[in-house]
Amino acid sequence: MKKILTTVVAVFALIGGMHLFLQQRANTVKTRSADSTEKLRVVTTNSILEDMVQNVGKDRIHLYSIVKRGTDPHEYEPQPSDVSEANEADVMFYNGLNLETGGNGWFTKLVETSHKKFNREVFAASKDVKAKQLTTNVKEDDPHAWLDLENGIKYVETITEVLKQKDPRNATFYQANADAYVAKLRKLHVEAQSKYLEIPQAQRVLITSEGAFKYFADAYHVTPAYIWEINTEAQGTPEQMKKVIAKINDSEVKHLFVESSVSAKSMDKVAKETGLDIYSKVFTDSLAKKGAKGDTYYSMMKWNIEQIYKGLK
Ligand SMILES: [Zn+2]
Repeated sequence: MKKILTTVVAVFALIGGMHLFLQQRANTVKTRSADSTEKLRVVTTNSILEDMVQNVGKDRIHLYSIVKRGTDPHEYEPQPSDVSEANEADVMFYNGLNLETGGNGWFTKLVETSHKKFNREVFAASKDVKAKQLTTNVKEDDPHAWLDLENGIKYVETITEVLKQKDPRNATFYQANADAYVAKLRKLHVEAQSKYLEIPQAQRVLITSEGAFKYFADAYHVTPAYIWEINTEAQGTPEQMKKVIAKINDSEVKHLFVESSVSAKSMDKVAKETGLDIYSKVFTDSLAKKGAKGDTYYSMMKWNIEQIYKGLK
């Protein structure tokens, strides 16, 4: 009898606990009523997504971006302000394809601690992109899809669909902004597609620290070469240095490049070993600080396309 009573008490305690838990959950999952004057709260993982969302949502959303400009988004440690913004968010956009969910998996943990759910409040901007695989670990996707503007356009379209769905009152506004923005991106994409073809092929080799340019290379007809394939692995090992130097010696490449969000230490060594200069920085995983060249997705791509062209030529 005593045993049965204990079990009954335990079951009631469990139901009570569940009820309390569900009530708390209901309080954290906000629903936007039609007459709400509050702006949709949007969180992005990095500055490239931040800028895309900004171009569509403009002043009708509250926007917060987690990884600061000039910082690597592959591996990151969320700060208290990131956690509180994630808690309050109506929508969160991340790149996907193994960017923030690879390495130490910081974003997956943040989604869990903020009680958000993938495909409910949390959306991958890369959803409609055809992923390329890493060559060193073929089971993993290469995250750098945005470096092909055609993919960047797909990101913008996905972002727009989500914003329209979460905030239907402003759907027409979001769509009109997206249409104008996509037209601008498409024009740059078309220009870039034929830009490099006049440069002899042996010269059209793009040397960077991280192998972030696979999507870019296919779209714009250059051959990518790198010291390490992805920022989550060891960077600048003797083996990696030997390989990239051999590739450079096999080509007629004129200049090297270094990304704005990685240390230049390894590329400086390559420059010393090969006698080639670093032509300029390029933007891969982060935009420039606001006010500087490359501080938007459009201007980062324009900068990359022009600098790489001049450096290869
Ligand atoms: Zn990267």
